[in-house]
Amino acid sequence: MGFVQGLVCRECHRAYPAEALHVCDYCFGPLEVAYDYDAIAARVTKERIGAGPPSIWRYVDLLPVAGPAGADLNPGFTPLVRADRLGAELGLGELWLKDDTRNPTGSFKDRVVGVALTKARELGLKVAACASTGNLANAVAAAAARAGMESYVFIPANLERVKVATTAVFGGHLVAVEGNYDDVNRLCAELASDRPEWAFVNVNIRPYYSEGSKTLAFEVAEQLGWQLPDHVVVPIASGSQLTKIHKGFGELAKVGLVEPHPVRVSGAQALGCSPVATAFAEGSDTIRPVRPDTIAKSLAIGNPADGWYALEVVRSSGGRIGAVSDAEILEAISLLARTEGIFAETAGGVTIATLAKLAAEGAIGTDERVVAYVTGNGLKTVEALGDAVGPSYVIPPSLEAFVAADRAAGGIR
Ligand SMILES: *Cc1c(COP(=O)(O)O)cnc(C)c1O
Ligand SMILES: [Zn+2]
Repeated sequence: MGFVQGLVCRECHRAYPAEALHVCDYCFGPLEVAYDYDAIAARVTKERIGAGPPSIWRYVDLLPVAGPAGADLNPGFTPLVRADRLGAELGLGELWLKDDTRNPTGSFKDRVVGVALTKARELGLKVAACASTGNLANAVAAAAARAGMESYVFIPANLERVKVATTAVFGGHLVAVEGNYDDVNRLCAELASDRPEWAFVNVNIRPYYSEGSKTLAFEVAEQLGWQLPDHVVVPIASGSQLTKIHKGFGELAKVGLVEPHPVRVSGAQALGCSPVATAFAEGSDTIRPVRPDTIAKSLAIGNPADGWYALEVVRSSGGRIGAVSDAEILEAISLLARTEGIFAETAGGVTIATLAKLAAEGAIGTDERVVAYVTGNGLKTVEALGDAVGPSYVIPPSLEAFVAADRAAGGIR
């Protein structure tokens, strides 16, 4: 059973067995996986990890599964790239980008789904299901196809066309729900109690699913030569990824793989769906649900399940939470593309725009080693760019026409 001791309530700390459970019977708090860290410390070494596969499974000793996945898409171990040109534009000293556009289905969701479906199979659950804003739909449908599992994917009916097509192609059941993500999520919560034999990755097996995000911390530390960064900027939808990246850095220190070092964790939201940023700005502990209205659909969760925990991590680590407009998101997508050659989806635009805002406000020091998480591929949200992209000019197929048009456009000769 790996090093998992069981599940524990994050609020009242009652213990539960490592089954398909997600809420505490006593206080309704969320359940979290508990590990035997002494046993992990006795087993893991940098060499053992370094000799592992180039995927999330190199960190299997720190994940809540008995072993690597078998029939799996092998997500993770994406590049960490030094971003000097973007860093110079933003006035930052040392900037790195974690390029999770390069996962099997183009977003970080492949990591969490890899862990969730592996756990589901260990628990004997045969149907993969989820409520999704799009990227999770892609990841669940693809990973289920690969593993030969049935899948049921529930999405809001107004999702980007590309995300519908790139889910449907994998051949599972794709259910479009007339409502927003929070409506879809509510329906799935009801369904999950009606069909306990289904693995709803972000409902009844959420404690395992969310642990997959820790690999975003493990990889960054390993890729920095087993050192922790000073400051990370992370997008917030439910807030799970942000809290688990923080947890992942802490675990590496706990099991002796890195020197303990404080990491400031900052969060990024779209103004059109910024309940956690608002609570941060107001110094409040209450996250008031909102009705999302933003082009960053993959982050459009109006009532974030882990919002409060994300707020806690940001506050206690000395980070900030920024919120950016749709116009700033589009500008950041093109800034990232033209400075670093990385095409991110709207969530990546949210992160880079927030990074720019925090840098301009002096909330990120020029002496800090900064990592920004770019979590999804731009090919998924081409629609959002609208008329902002197109040819520099249109010409008939002749040399004179090109020379004249290029001179008029201020070309390079
Ligand atoms: C889901 C998602 C996130 C954030 O997820 P959390 O719910 O906060 O864990 C970030 N970026 C992309 C592209 C996503 O799809
Ligand atoms: Zn409890």
